Amino acid sequence: MVDCLFCKFVKKELPTRVVFEDDTCLAFEDINPKAPVHVLVIPKKHLSSTNAMTSEDETGLGHLTLVARKIAQEKKIDQSGYRTVMNTGPDAGQSVFHIHLHLLGGRSMGWPPG
Ligand code: AMP
Ligand code: ZN
Repeated sequence: MVDCLFCKFVKKELPTRVVFEDDTCLAFEDINPKAPVHVLVIPKKHLSSTNAMTSEDETGLGHLTLVARKIAQEKKIDQSGYRTVMNTGPDAGQSVFHIHLHLLGGRSMGWPPG
C-alpha cells in the first residue's frame, strides 16, 4: 500500500534492521525498543490490523508466531520467556496500521499490561 511505512520496508524502499525474511514475512528490530529484545514480525501482505483479517489470512498470521518463536530461540530468550503482542485499534495503542506481531523479551514483564 502506498505510504505505508512497513510496506516500504517490505519493498526495500526504506532501510530497516532485518532479523529474518522469507516469502511471506519480514522481521525487523523495533526502532524504539521496549525490552532488550523487541522485534516486529509482519506479513508482506498489507493488512491494516486484525480487524482487516479474513479466513484467507489465518495461515499467514499463524506463521508470524512460529517465526517469532524461531527468533526467540536464536536470541536465547525462549527459555527465560517472551511476549508476543498484536495491538489492534486506539485502546490497544496501535500506531502503525500494517499488522505486526511484537516479540518482546530479555527482561521480566508485568501483567496486566498498562
Ligand atoms: P504499535 O503501537 O503496536 O502499532 O507498534 C508500532 C511499533 O512500530 C512501535 O513499537 C514503534 O516503535 C515501531 N516503529 C515505528 N516506526 C518504526 C521504524 N521506522 N522502524 C522500526 N520500528 C518502528
Ligand atoms: Zn503496509
